[in-house]
Amino acid sequence: MLDFYIESDFRLGRLLQCPVGEHMNGFAGWLHSAGYQRRPAQLALRAAAHLGHWALARAIPTGRLDEQLDAFVRHLPACACPHDFQGRADYHAAGARRFVEYLQTIGVLLRACAEPEPVPTLVTGFCDWMREHRGVAESTLANYVPLVADFLATLGEDTSTYEAGAVRAFIFARANQHGRRRAKSIVNAVRMFLRFLAAYGHCSAELIAAVPRIAHWKLSALPRYISALFRFLWVGHQPRAIPTAKKPVVVAPQAFWARSGASAAQCGQRGDEWGQAGDNSWHRSR
Ligand SMILES: [Zn+2]
Repeated sequence: MLDFYIESDFRLGRLLQCPVGEHMNGFAGWLHSAGYQRRPAQLALRAAAHLGHWALARAIPTGRLDEQLDAFVRHLPACACPHDFQGRADYHAAGARRFVEYLQTIGVLLRACAEPEPVPTLVTGFCDWMREHRGVAESTLANYVPLVADFLATLGEDTSTYEAGAVRAFIFARANQHGRRRAKSIVNAVRMFLRFLAAYGHCSAELIAAVPRIAHWKLSALPRYISALFRFLWVGHQPRAIPTAKKPVVVAPQAFWARSGASAAQCGQRGDEWGQAGDNSWHRSR
C-alpha cells in the first residue's frame, strides 16, 4: 500500500529502512482506508519516519513512542535532526500523532487516557459561525466538530487547494464505514463547513455543490431501468453516480450490489472494493 502514495523507489526505500519501517506499509493502508489523499498521506508518512529517527537517537523503543510524543513535538521548533525526514513544520506533529494512533489501533501501543488534542482554529471559528448565523444546538455542534476536524486533518489546512474530487472521496470513505444516519451527519457537517470556508473566502463556493446527497429511495421504488443500470455497472466494475440525479448521490454499497442481483458474499466483496477505491477516477473527478 505504501507505493500507492510513494512512487519513487528511492523514497520508498528510505521509508522502509527508517527505524519504524516495518510499520510503514500498514500505516499507509490505514491512512488510505481513512480517506487520506496523496499529499497529506505523504506528509504523515514523512512525520512518522521523523519520529522513528528521533526516537532511535534517544534509544526510545517503539513501544514507548506514545509516552515520548510530547517531547518529540517540543523538539520540533528547533529540530536539527541529521536525517532526511527532519523539519519544523506543523505537519510533523500532526503526522506523528496519527502514527501513534495507528500503532495503538494495531496494538503495538496501548491506548491511554490522553488529553484531547487542541481544536484547530478553523474548527473553533466554524463553531462560532454556526452559533451566530445558524443558531445551531450545542448537541449538533458536538456531533459536527470531530467530523470537521477529521475533514480538515485529511484534506489539509491549506483550504485554498481543496478540490471537488477530494471532498467527495472523503465523504464516500467515511459514509461507507457507517449507517445512513451517520452518513447524513457527515454530509451535512462537510457541507456546512464548506459554506463557512466559502463565506470567508477560504475556498471556492463551487465546492459546496460537490457535496453529494444521501439517497432516500427504497429499493422497491427504483425504476426497472435503474435496476438494469446497477447490474451493468456491477459487471463492468465501474461505479458511477446515477445519471438521473442532478448531483452525485451516496448509495449504501451493499444495497447497490444487492440490487444488481449479486449474492450476499458478492455484495460484501463488491462493497469493500467500492469503499477502497480511493484511486477511482470518479473520486478524483472535479
Ligand atoms: Zn527532528
